[in-house]
Order: sequence, then C-alpha cells, then structure tokens
Amino acid sequence: MTRRLIEPRLVVASHNPGKVREIGELIAPYRIEAVSAASLGLAEPEEPEPTFIGNALIKARAAASSARLPALADDSGLCVDALNGEPGVLSARWAGPEKNFQEAMEKVHRRLIAIGAVDWRAHFVCALAIAWPDGHSEVFEGEIHGTLVWPPRGSRGFGYDPQFVADGYDITFGEMEPERKHAISHRAIAFRKLVEACLA
Ligand code: IMP
Repeated sequence: MTRRLIEPRLVVASHNPGKVREIGELIAPYRIEAVSAASLGLAEPEEPEPTFIGNALIKARAAASSARLPALADDSGLCVDALNGEPGVLSARWAGPEKNFQEAMEKVHRRLIAIGAVDWRAHFVCALAIAWPDGHSEVFEGEIHGTLVWPPRGSRGFGYDPQFVADGYDITFGEMEPERKHAISHRAIAFRKLVEACLA
C-alpha cells in the first residue's frame, strides 16, 4: 500500500532553484514545511541512472538518510522525438557547468537543423520520488507533450521553458503565467498523482 506523508517537514532534495521554487509553490497548500537541501548543507549526489525515476530515487534516498526526514526529489528533463529522446536525463548537463540554458537550447536547435528534422515534437518528463529515512519510497511520473520553437520566447520559468509550446497553446512555457504552467506541467501531473496517493 502507498505510504502517506504525515510528517510536518519535508526536504526538497534539489539544488536547482527553479525546481525548489516550483515544488515549494505546489506543496504550500498542504501545510507541510518544505526545507531545501541547500539550506541543510546536503551534498548534491551524482545522477548516474538512465531513467528519470532511477535518478529521482537516488536523490530522495540520499537526502532522507542524511537529513533524517522524508525527502522529495524531482528528476526531469526534455525529450525530443527527432533526437531519439535526447537530451532526456542529460537535460541539465547539456547546459554545461555554468548551467547556461541559452546554450542548451541552441544545442537542441543545432542538432535539429543538422539532421534536417521537420518534426520538432518534444515532451517534458518529471519523476517525483518521496523517500523516508527508513528506506521506504514512492514514485510518480508526469509528462507534457508539445513542440519546440526557435527562437526561444519569454523569460519566465527556467531551463528549456522558452523553447517549448505545449499542445493546445500558442505561447511558450517561458511566456506563460507561473500559475498556468503549474496547472498543466509534467511536474504538476506527477504532483497530482503524489497528492492523491500520499497527501489527500
Ligand atoms: P535534473 O532533474 O536536476 O537533472 O535537471 C533537469 C533539467 O531538465 C533542468 O535543469 C531543466 O533544464 C530541464 N527541465 C526540467 N523541468 C523543466 C521545466 O519545467 N521547464 C524547463 N526545463 C525543465
């Protein structure tokens, strides 16, 4: 059976400020205090797994065992159909050590042009894992499908948001009000599953 989250504090096991902010906003209505991994001085573990779920579990388990608190981790990324799912689990790494997402978006665009791709369909994936200090864990996944655009548009959100237009919309995630993105994103879909299973 799925374990419910009854503890009043939860570590958000991410060092990505964009994700910590979005997860904090999603969790706010549930009266759980979200503590960031950075504020606890937790190390950022390697992400060696080939799947989003595998990496989310590594991050959640490492934070839960160091902090002795339940921990929530997100592993997510952009999968481009014409690039066989790349950058995928390497989405953050395509931005280099400086985390320069303008460059990462240019790299995606260059690759699409290099192979002459006419189909620019892509989707974001988000795996959320909650781990408890005793080793128990739960995982949830969400996806949102859409199309890439060039040049990137908008300065909201983070990462590849300015390059992605979700199906049914004509503005990028970078142009979208945060509340609207939170209602439809891959993270929101995974989070709704988590709420239903562990919080509702
Ligand atoms: P990681 O899960 O920390 O390895 O990093 C995932 C990377 O995927 C982020 O740094 C972003 O580049 C990208 N990504 C994940 N979710 C989003 C999103 O909601 N918008 C834009 N980019 C995202």
